[in-house]
Formats: sequence, C-alpha cells, structure tokens
Amino acid sequence: MKTLRLILGDQLSHQLSALRDIDRAHDVVLMAEVLEETTYVRHHKQKIVLVLSAMRHFAKSLRDRGILVEYVQLDDKKNTGTLKGELGRALLHHKADRIIVTEPGEWRLWKNMQTWDREFGREVEIRGDDRFLCSRDDFLLWAGGRKSLRMEYFYRDMRRKTGWLMNENKPLGDRWNYDAENRKALPGNIKIPSRLHFGPDVETQNVMSLVEQRFGDHFGDLQSFGWAVTRNDALKALNQFIKNCLPLFGDYQDAMKSGEDLLFHSVLSPYINIGLLNPREVCEAALEAFRNEKAPLHAVEGFLRQILGWREFMRGIYWEYMPDYAETNFLNADRPLPDFYWTGNTDLRCLRECIGATRRNAYAHHIQRLMITGNFALLAGLSPAQVEEWYLIVYADAYEWVELPNTHGMALFADGGLLASKPYAASGAYINRMSDYCAGCAYDPKIKLGPRACPFNYLYWYFIITNEAKLKNNPRMAMPYRNLTRMTDDQRQQINREAEAFLARLKNKKNRQNG
Ligand SMILES: Cc1cc2nc3c(=O)[nH]c(=O)nc-3n(C[C@H](O)[C@H](O)[C@H](O)COP(=O)(O)OP(=O)(O)OC[C@H]3O[C@@H](n4cnc5c(N)ncnc54)[C@H](O)[C@@H]3O)c2cc1C
Ligand code: SF4
Repeated sequence: MKTLRLILGDQLSHQLSALRDIDRAHDVVLMAEVLEETTYVRHHKQKIVLVLSAMRHFAKSLRDRGILVEYVQLDDKKNTGTLKGELGRALLHHKADRIIVTEPGEWRLWKNMQTWDREFGREVEIRGDDRFLCSRDDFLLWAGGRKSLRMEYFYRDMRRKTGWLMNENKPLGDRWNYDAENRKALPGNIKIPSRLHFGPDVETQNVMSLVEQRFGDHFGDLQSFGWAVTRNDALKALNQFIKNCLPLFGDYQDAMKSGEDLLFHSVLSPYINIGLLNPREVCEAALEAFRNEKAPLHAVEGFLRQILGWREFMRGIYWEYMPDYAETNFLNADRPLPDFYWTGNTDLRCLRECIGATRRNAYAHHIQRLMITGNFALLAGLSPAQVEEWYLIVYADAYEWVELPNTHGMALFADGGLLASKPYAASGAYINRMSDYCAGCAYDPKIKLGPRACPFNYLYWYFIITNEAKLKNNPRMAMPYRNLTRMTDDQRQQINREAEAFLARLKNKKNRQNG
C-alpha cells in the first residue's frame, strides 16, 4: 500500500506521529507552501520566512534520510494555492492509496480534514500530536466534571504525572509554585546576555526575496531576520538560553526595559511551535541545569510552569471549547483596533516600545503582550476578534491553538473567566513598577486625571465602572470595587469624561493590517 504522508509547516519534527512507521520504499511525504496558509491572515514577514525556510530545510533533512519528498514551492507554476488542491495533485501523481497526517493546530484545518476521506475517496488517518505532553483526550478526562478549570491544578497534576521537580508525591522544596519570587523589577546595572543571531543562508535569502516580492506590504521588518531555521541552530539557541539566561529567568520574568527586547526570556516559542524543538527536551534541559546546580529551583520551576503548565493548558482549553470559544464576548467589547497597533505611532511610550519591538523582531515577551498591548486592548474595550487577528499576525510563534486562548481568555477576559480567575487589568502604576517606560513618556503614571495623566489610569477606572455589573461579584475583584465605593460622583464623572474623550480620539481604518 502506498501512503501519502502530509507534513504541515508547524510539524517539522522527525519524530512526528505521521512519519512513524514510514515505508521508505513506497511512501511519499508531501510538503506544500500554499498561498491559502500564508495569507489567511497577513502574517508578519519574518513569520512567513521562518516557516517556509524551516520547511525547505526540513524537507532536505528528510531526503538526506532516504525519504521521498514531494515539495511544492509557493511559486511553482502548478501550485493550486490550497492544501486540498496540492493533496489532490499528489495523490494522483503518486497513485497513493491513503493519507496519513498528524492532527493540525487549528480548528479551521481540523474541520477541513474531516471531509478529506469522502472528497478524495481514500482512507485518511489523522494521528494524535504526541509532541504535546498532555493529549487532547487526557485533557478532556482531567477537565471533565470540574466546575472551573484552573491552570495551577492542571499543572500540579502534570508535575505528578511527569515526576518533574517532585520528591515522591510532594513538590521539591515543598512548594508547587515560586511565582511570588518571579516578579522582581530589573536593577539598573544588570547585564543582559546577548543572543545568537542566525544570519540567513542562501535558502533563507531566497525565501526572503520571495516574501518581499509577494508579501512586501505585510506588517514587520524583514532585514533584521535572525531566526534559526534548522533543528541544529534551534538547539544552539536552547543551549545558550539554558547557560546564560535560565538562572535569572525567574527573577525578571515580569520585567520590561526599553531597548532590551528579550531580557532573560527563552525566545524559543517559535521553534517549539513549529517542531524544531520538542517541549519535553526543552523542559529536560532546564531540569538538567537544576540537577547540575547551574540554575536555582525558582527559576527552573518558573520556566517549567510555562511549558508544562500554561502551554499544555492553553491547548487543552482550545480543543475543548472550540469553535464556540472564539465567539464569546463577555464584556461586549466592540471598539475597532486603533491604527497605532500597526504603526507604533502613539505618544504612550509603553505601547510604542512594545509595538516597535514586535515590528522589528516578530517577538515580544509575555508581559509585554499581556500587560501592555493586551491590557490596553482590555481597558479600551477593543473588539476581541480584531485584537486576536492582530496577535495571530504579528508574532513568529502565533498559531491559533495557543494565540486564541491567550488573547481571548487571558488578555481580554472575553470568555468571562473560563480560563483566568479575573481580568488582567492594570493601571499605570503597575507598568511604572515593572518597567522603565514611564521615564521617557509624555504622560505621568502618578497623575490620575488631566492632560498629563497616564491614560492607563483613567482607562483602568473607566473599565471598572463600565463593567461593574459583570465583575463586581468576582471575589478577586473585591478590592477595586471596594475602592470604587470611596469615589465621589464627581470623580466618577470626570473619569468617564476623560476616558471617553481619549477613546474618541483613537484612529482606525477598517480592516487595515499593514504598517
Ligand atoms: C495576548 C497573548 C498572546 C499570546 N500569543 C502567543 C502565541 O501566539 N504563541 C505562543 O507560543 N505564545 C503566545 N503567548 C504566550 C507567551 O507570551 C509566549 O509563549 C512567550 O512570550 C514566548 O516567548 P518565549 O519563548 O521567550 O517565552 P518564555 O517566557 O521563555 O517561556 C518559555 C516557554 O513557555 C511557553 N509559554 C510561556 N507562557 C505561555 C503561555 N501563556 N501560553 C502558552 N505557552 C507559554 C512558551 O512555549 C515559551 O517558549 C501569548 C500571550 C499573550 C498574553
Ligand atoms: S506613563 Fe502611562 S502611557 Fe506612559 S509609559 Fe507609563 S504607563 Fe505607559
């Protein structure tokens, strides 16, 4: 029996379930660069280059292992531009009897695959993606019957299941979570480690020219491209992170600094998400650093929690609640995305810095995404669908299974608290404490009202006031609602007036996606 094995752009791993038991004498691997996938949203140029170049390098490594690969480039004359079109062509050309594929990361594609057997008249086997540490079925079992789903309890079960940082049934150090130690502000004199920049090889340069030519008007700079596009280089990035950044990862996980785009973060998500690195090996590398006393417990636990906890939890939520999940809009937010999300042209320095970094690097770290661009979107009542599209476009690591729950649930509280126990809403005081952005800003985080007041301050209270009916009974919101009762009517009215005037000044062009 001849089998066509389809490998998608975020499945670039030799251990992929769809490649297991491959019959090198008869089977064919299909990899296709299709317009449909490069343009269903107008991805950051670096994201397209990263995926296409990594695909081309991966195809070569398969061929080097004696595997027959049918590789369709974006500008091949016969390329139909769709995955289905390319599958149809390859099935006919290779006279294949069946298709094997690993489950995709997006609901859209998953739904599409359900009809392939009928459409192609061939057996289609969709295999589980065992690069994840918790299968979709195991997550359903864990979630079944629980009243609320909280990452912390999921994470503890995953620790028990893997035995990582455990002493028999107890967490090492007698604590599950060192989050409280992971919120330090950055000292002025700290040395930030430099990072590897992977200069584009000839193949990547070819893809860069293609992307400039076909998608030149997409968001983002391309000239600074320095992502790894092979497993070997991704491993070098992993090793460098473990050696130079992991020891301080925990301490400064929530810190932000102008001109320092990466700090002590791993910057590994694009590689993990497309398969160049496996999440298990990334966690094991951190655990080994702990065993060898190269990194302290709170740093390694903090890092492990992100991958074993948050990453797996987000995926579980996505598959359990899609497609309805994306449609919820608990706070009825509907303001269009302001233009400055594309241009960075705003006098709010924190936003300008984070959007600028996003444009340069197709990367911003978690606190920049959550507490700057996400927090602003939450406070300003921006439309979840438009904000989600923005996040899906601008980051090199953005795939819907992970982007959507993070944006919809964590940043925007659009699911009404299914994922997060309270909205991550913060005023200028938080941003001032965790960053140096406010020092060079046109506004003052200590001023609450008036022309020099930080807009995050009155927007925060406006958010609290306008969503009172929906949020005041949330026990974790008790403090702001207690403080609200101390405000006079005059103060409330002034907050409303200033916030509404600010929001009315936000400019947007409908559906604009470019910078
Ligand atoms: C609004 C918003 C949108 C986001 N969109 C994405 C996205 O499209 N793709 C994506 O991979 N992550 C997304 N995240 C999660 C997180 O911000 C990124 O994973 C992280 O910033 C990647 O940088 P890093 O590799 O340096 O992470 P580190 O800070 O070094 O963390 C280590 C690893 O943990 C994992 N991780 C950390 N936090 C999360 C999280 N909340 N959810 C899932 N995995 C996590 C990632 O694999 C990451 O590489 C989003 C977060 C927010 C608030
Ligand atoms: S003052 Fe306000 S707007 Fe300016 S950088 Fe600080 S938090 Fe951002």
